[in-house]
Amino acid sequence: MALKFCTDCRKQVSSVAVECPHCGRIMNNGRIYMFLRVMMIVILFYYLHSHLS
Ligand SMILES: [Zn+2]
Repeated sequence: MALKFCTDCRKQVSSVAVECPHCGRIMNNGRIYMFLRVMMIVILFYYLHSHLS
């Protein structure tokens, strides 16, 4: 597990952390995680829509 530095408070943060434990800033991999969640909701919506119509 690698360490990186928070761009806001410049403290060490785990590279797998979704947000900085010191200042709560959302990290880049957290944005990707949120993007994937939104994509899953969109895919689920289209899946349900195609089966209900
Ligand atoms: Zn921080």
